[in-house]
Amino acid sequence: MDEGLLQQGTELSQIPTYVTAVPNGTEKGLYMAVDLGGTNFRVCSIQLHGNTTFSLTQSKVAIPKELMVAKTSKELFSFLAKQIETFLKTHHEEHYTGHIRRRETGGAVKEEEIFNLGFTFSFPVNQIGINKGLLMRWTKGFDIADAVGKDVCALLQTEIDALGLPVRVAALVNDTVGTLMARSYTSPGKTGTLLGAIFGTGTNGAYVEKLDKVTKLTKSKDSGDYDKSTGEMIVNTEWGSFDNSLRTLPNTPYDIELDEKSVNPGIQMFEKRVSGMFLGEILRLAIIGLLKDPTFPLFRDENSAQNDIHSTTQIYDNSPIYKQWGIDTSFLSICAGDTSPGHRMVRQTLDKDYGITAVSAEDAEAVRAIAAAIGRRAARLAAVAIAGIVINTGRLDAAKGTATTEQKAGIDPPRGDADLAEEDVIDVGVDGSLVEFYPNFEDHIREALREIEGIGAKGEKRIRIGIAKDGSGVGAALIALVAGRVAVDTE
Ligand code: ADP
Ligand code: MG
Repeated sequence: MDEGLLQQGTELSQIPTYVTAVPNGTEKGLYMAVDLGGTNFRVCSIQLHGNTTFSLTQSKVAIPKELMVAKTSKELFSFLAKQIETFLKTHHEEHYTGHIRRRETGGAVKEEEIFNLGFTFSFPVNQIGINKGLLMRWTKGFDIADAVGKDVCALLQTEIDALGLPVRVAALVNDTVGTLMARSYTSPGKTGTLLGAIFGTGTNGAYVEKLDKVTKLTKSKDSGDYDKSTGEMIVNTEWGSFDNSLRTLPNTPYDIELDEKSVNPGIQMFEKRVSGMFLGEILRLAIIGLLKDPTFPLFRDENSAQNDIHSTTQIYDNSPIYKQWGIDTSFLSICAGDTSPGHRMVRQTLDKDYGITAVSAEDAEAVRAIAAAIGRRAARLAAVAIAGIVINTGRLDAAKGTATTEQKAGIDPPRGDADLAEEDVIDVGVDGSLVEFYPNFEDHIREALREIEGIGAKGEKRIRIGIAKDGSGVGAALIALVAGRVAVDTE
């Protein structure tokens, strides 16, 4: 972590975000936000009420697979701009038509008519200003060569302008930073949030760092404008690429095969063991590995004497398990969640979604065991990343409160924060389908945190983990707000 704060080109990118303050819940206004996550594109407008609450209108479309590997970035970004246009027509019709009419009649565009938009772009970007950032590399299956090295805000603004929309890309937001901001706006109490972390298609984290530690920015000549008064800056770790050299990460034949057949072999190695895009594929490769071994009895029940549902287990030739990415990570959640005797849900899903019929209870149990190991490993690695940030920022040493839950009650509280002095709480905001839907993901994280030297049972209790629901939208709005202020201040 420290190495990345000193210089470019290190293992953790530690990208300065130019965001120097986290919100406290009193912020107000109407903003737009878009989120290019990896799987979906979301467009939303957010009304911040200034009392830690907000109203949000949103639409969501799946990003067409062919656009992820389009020939030119224009194809992708014009698609995104069209979604913004549709959203405005649907949800802010008056605003939209009023603006178009004034433009057509040559009327002046009023500044207050323009929506400030926060652009959540969840790929590694070298940020050089609050609304300026150069794409470093694609991840998560995207591959559009001409976008690399370009300013992604400009790419989007160009397509927005081509459609004549009343929208200004005011801030470039990594989803981790948005999560951190959103959690900080909505989290209970006056404790600011330390870390925003994503466990969705990919995984990454952003945290509040002391500005004087971010020397690669503060000591650089062309570092751009930012507010220095808070003494802090949010840093985007890009922890998905932690340990690409595999010094310490666990490595199995399935990890190796997944990586070799990915569009970015050798990079994002941490992410490839932790996030939603990959866990289903690891399971698939493990199952295929077992099927290749004729002595292994998985899915081989030949008659009703062996099989408790009266027929031969059969795998259809066109089963998704034979195709790369054929198993979705949501199947791991189904496995973890189906504790019923006989695992009916698992067997039904294998039948319905994966073309494997008449699966025995033992087979379902075997699949569950593998899936559970993959999910648990992911959560435990997630805990390592969280612990690294907590330990290296020294937050655990900064305890002011005295009575811990442990000392007071001598019993285990249900979750970290019960009875903790507010200044002792270390708040972490998380987002992403994996952490939201995988059963007990947080419990596995907590179990691992307790085992980590430097955290332990006491430290684990001080860490409060909360989902930042709709984090990317609200967070981007909050950053667009901050960006708006900066723009006004410097005018
Ligand atoms: P994005 O990363 O695009 O912002 P999400 O946070 O929704 O989107 O994450 C999508 C990823 O989560 C996909 O890789 C998908 O396989 C995985 N996923 C979707 N539903 C579930 C679920 N119920 N349990 C675990 N993983 C899921
Ligand atoms: Mg997301």
